[in-house]
Amino acid sequence: MNPLSPHLLPLGASTDDEGKLTLHGVSFEELVEVYGTPLFVYDTDDIVGKVTHLTRVANWKVAYASKAFLSVALLRLLKSYDILLDVASGGELAVAKAADFPGDRLIFHGNNKSRRELEEAVAYGVGLIVLDSFNEVERLRQIAKREGKVVPVLVRVTPGVEAHTHEYIMTGQEDSKFGFSVSSGAAKKAIETIMGDEALEFMGIHAHIGSQIFLLESFRKEVEALAPLLHAYRPRIINLGGGIGVAYLNYEESGDFAIWAKTLTATLDELTLDFDYEVIVEPGRAIVASSALTFYTVGTVKEVEGVRTYLAVDGGMSDNPRPVIYDSGYEAFLPRAVGADRDKNFRIVGKHCESGDVIIKDAFLPSETSVGDVVATPVTGAYGYSMASNYNRVPRPPVVFVDSSGHRLAIRGETYEDLLRLELF
Ligand SMILES: *Cc1c(COP(=O)(O)O)cnc(C)c1O
Repeated sequence: MNPLSPHLLPLGASTDDEGKLTLHGVSFEELVEVYGTPLFVYDTDDIVGKVTHLTRVANWKVAYASKAFLSVALLRLLKSYDILLDVASGGELAVAKAADFPGDRLIFHGNNKSRRELEEAVAYGVGLIVLDSFNEVERLRQIAKREGKVVPVLVRVTPGVEAHTHEYIMTGQEDSKFGFSVSSGAAKKAIETIMGDEALEFMGIHAHIGSQIFLLESFRKEVEALAPLLHAYRPRIINLGGGIGVAYLNYEESGDFAIWAKTLTATLDELTLDFDYEVIVEPGRAIVASSALTFYTVGTVKEVEGVRTYLAVDGGMSDNPRPVIYDSGYEAFLPRAVGADRDKNFRIVGKHCESGDVIIKDAFLPSETSVGDVVATPVTGAYGYSMASNYNRVPRPPVVFVDSSGHRLAIRGETYEDLLRLELF
């Protein structure tokens, strides 16, 4: 027997008398009938549960890294909780503004913020702007001076830690486009430049070593690498980034928030810092990944004699590019038979004109899976919709929120008119 492990499903997931998937009592068939496929379904109670747990598990501030999944409806919901929000572009800031997310609860990241983005951030009163290069220090300094404002900033540093994760999502190593290196003295120089400038207020330091990290030792090393800067500059804020890993596959286990918190705070305690500081962490994936599933409809099943069986669905790399970019693995299951034995190997592919358009290389599904079946991939809440594209001019799917009060559309599906709205006739 090889059924889907229930730990990959969101909080509100259950099965009815016939073994079919329900979310807070809503049958998946109803969702698919109302909204069609492909479809992203988020359990927002699951998100709220993660946020609440994270904010209480340690004496720290939690910033949600919005790039994992961002929508106005989500921010309207999150804004009533005691969290901050990371944005990393003018576009993400525009979504935060549209949701009336308070400026003083925003942290603005990015390794190449344009003059316009910085101006927008200053105008909206963004709480912390994270400076990433000497060019940016100068750019922001000019804006702040011109506006007659003192802008609070963090300095992003590269701690020189190689987190054990995929190369593309590793950000703390010495050879990185992000931040000022600690070991070369660039971080020291950046901090001192900012401290000596009236238009900028040095609030603290920021480091983020990467994403999908399970090895707690990497987080320990991160804090230890910051020690010289902490002792020298006594920052009011120590922002240690996000990156705690989540389970995508049956045999994986998500990182434990309490253990993560303990690792970071215990390592900080060992440094015996003799000043008051506030710790900020910025998880993205860990808040939203396992809250969502994607539903697809099977369009073709192609048996390639002696090779494999291809199962093509109505989405693909346009709604989930992670398998293509990072070679990420996912599970799949039939929501009409959640606990069924998944006894046959399929390669689940999308509808795009690329051989690389694979969602799951070696998926296991019940052997009777056939055309017209709805297939679900769990743990698609992070870096799926937010990385979605219109490749092949495939419209982006709708996003639906489900909670104990029912289901509602959060982002409507794109139409052909949407796809044509930038064209000049
Ligand atoms: C992406 C990112 C995060 C969130 O990473 P997750 O792996 O989703 O937790 C946090 N901080 C910064 C600066 C980031 O770039």
